[in-house]
Amino acid sequence: MKVVVAGAGYAGAVAVNRLAKRVPDAEVTVVNPRPDFVERVRLHQQLAGTGHAGRPLSQVLPRGVRARQAAVEKIGDGCAVLDDGDTLDFDFLLLAVGSTLSPLPGTVPTGTWEGAERARAALAKLPAGRTVTVVGTGATGIETAAEIAYARPDLKVRLVGRELAAPLSEGARRRVRDGLARLNVALVEDIVTGVRPEEDEPAEGTVTLGSGEEFASDLTLWSVIGSVPDLAARSGLAVDERGRAVVDEYLRSVSDPRVVVAGDCAAVPGSRMSCQTAEPQGAHAADTVARMIKGEPLRPYKVEYVAACISLGRRDGVIQFVHRDDSPRRRYFAGRLGAMTKEGIVRGAGFSARTGIVGALPGAK
Ligand SMILES: Cc1cc2nc3c(=O)[nH]c(=O)nc-3n(C[C@H](O)[C@H](O)[C@H](O)COP(=O)(O)OP(=O)(O)OC[C@H]3O[C@@H](n4cnc5c(N)ncnc54)[C@H](O)[C@@H]3O)c2cc1C
Repeated sequence: MKVVVAGAGYAGAVAVNRLAKRVPDAEVTVVNPRPDFVERVRLHQQLAGTGHAGRPLSQVLPRGVRARQAAVEKIGDGCAVLDDGDTLDFDFLLLAVGSTLSPLPGTVPTGTWEGAERARAALAKLPAGRTVTVVGTGATGIETAAEIAYARPDLKVRLVGRELAAPLSEGARRRVRDGLARLNVALVEDIVTGVRPEEDEPAEGTVTLGSGEEFASDLTLWSVIGSVPDLAARSGLAVDERGRAVVDEYLRSVSDPRVVVAGDCAAVPGSRMSCQTAEPQGAHAADTVARMIKGEPLRPYKVEYVAACISLGRRDGVIQFVHRDDSPRRRYFAGRLGAMTKEGIVRGAGFSARTGIVGALPGAK
């Protein structure tokens, strides 16, 4: 049996390691545009210089799995067309291409490896006293602004967006606000409607807010993760309004049951784009493929959550407990213990990616 795995992020890496154990005779080929496994949850550290987000894929994938450095351009009838012109036949394809950003012109996107590297180079050139604007008040924007302020206290860091940490409880949101203030991050609660880049220095520009107010920014980073690669849509698979592949209860595409989907690019009702979702889904998707290969009955996937975590530099973090359906509970903790817990979770995610072993704590009802 031939299995192609498109994307070697959290979902894809977990799935490949799981498949290697469950169906060792299957011929598994992983297709990924980079030769590295990118720990996306560390990209804010990568750009601020407080950590590394990449490691060779060979350290993550099991032996015997073929890795192709390419992007899947189109999924056809039992075959995947690659951007280098090659075609891979498959009996099953595991789609795990993650999510992406749609940055405004004049901004640098931070949620991808390439964007984080551009941001790192631009930050390194900024002398003391310059202004960095981070757009996006979700987890990625908050973590990015806080990490830069922690690593470069000589810069002025501004975070722009509405509804800071919207999914958290009142108390936890207040604590995030306090944590940002302690790092001297200026919070601007408005939307950004445009950025006018300087002609000779495109990273610099004038930021326009929804209110009409304008301010100068020496570097503007776009940290809103809202879209997914259009591979599923381009391939004619059913997608939702955000372009995510629509799946059945076993994570199979409703258009083609040979295509099993996991992670940010899967439209699973009630799921949050996170590695907390991607890894259990990657494991479940691999189990679905293994069961189809072995002719065993399929098991439905169930989404459940325990917590949401936000780091605020290396010494502070907020851990919000959530109900199984991801709605926030009142309980949260923060401070150094929050930062240490978040680091432990990130390391645990790396372990799962390397082994395919995914632990699940029972969430509160
Ligand atoms: C700064 C930052 C901090 C974050 N912090 C947290 C956190 O604390 N907790 C949490 O749970 N989540 C966090 N997230 C979100 C989390 O990183 C993502 O939800 C998670 O990476 C999704 O996993 P995935 O496997 O679906 O996608 P990814 O990890 O994005 O992997 C997708 C892979 O597919 C590849 N790919 C893309 N297109 C193609 C193609 N056409 N063909 C082949 N391969 C392709 C990509 O190159 C990539 O390797 C954070 C994200 C960012 C950016």
